[in-house]
Amino acid sequence: MRRWGFVPVLLVGLIVVSGGCKGGPRLLSQEDEIRLGREAGDDFERQYGLEHDQQIVGMVKEIGRNIAAAAVPPNYPYDFRVLARKEVNANAFPGGRIYVWRGLVDVLNRDRDQLAWVMGHEAAHVARRHVTRRLERELGYELLIALVLGRKGAAKTARLVGSLVMLDYGRDQEYEADRYGLLYTQRAGYDPTAAVAVLQTFQKLQGREPSKLEIFFETHPGNNQRINAVKAYIKEQGWSGKYYTP
Ligand SMILES: [Zn+2]
Repeated sequence: MRRWGFVPVLLVGLIVVSGGCKGGPRLLSQEDEIRLGREAGDDFERQYGLEHDQQIVGMVKEIGRNIAAAAVPPNYPYDFRVLARKEVNANAFPGGRIYVWRGLVDVLNRDRDQLAWVMGHEAAHVARRHVTRRLERELGYELLIALVLGRKGAAKTARLVGSLVMLDYGRDQEYEADRYGLLYTQRAGYDPTAAVAVLQTFQKLQGREPSKLEIFFETHPGNNQRINAVKAYIKEQGWSGKYYTP
């Protein structure tokens, strides 16, 4: 299937070769998470290419600053960047490096409220350590530390991390990221009901142009349930807005 079809094969091969499933329950320190995310993120953006349209980059960075201020505690040095790719996607790396794909910005018509929620959702994967825990589970502590320390095999590990951030988090973590994303969006001064509009847009795209949707939305939980959960949370919080009124 399309571009990412190679990923599982590559992963299985390299994990077997490196013995990456060892490592036990040790957790990376926050400092290690940040360095890991930077190393792997640098490799990721060399692979996919950064967006040069400064209007778009500036807008995403501005929303990112507001989301970052709303997403504490814990205090991560969030760094939102835009990839010059037409696919609709977004990815979080440990420690706060987050990539928004140009296709996502376009499909949401550069709507700040809607972008804020998607970015808040990704920030929640960082803050709740979903992304770090998954990498530790899949690759093991030693391999990740090798990357942090720039040891032998670090380049291969960086590429593996970049593949793993493309994969699904599983239903519970996605729902959790949706809720925290709503909270961050509201705290940051954006309209959290925008989440409903985002999910409806994805639903339409899924029916009409599934090829435009990359992993982020293919693998996120069933859209109807997700929309209902988001609406229920908005109602519970007593919010209403431009995109949805309970
Ligand atoms: Zn997610």
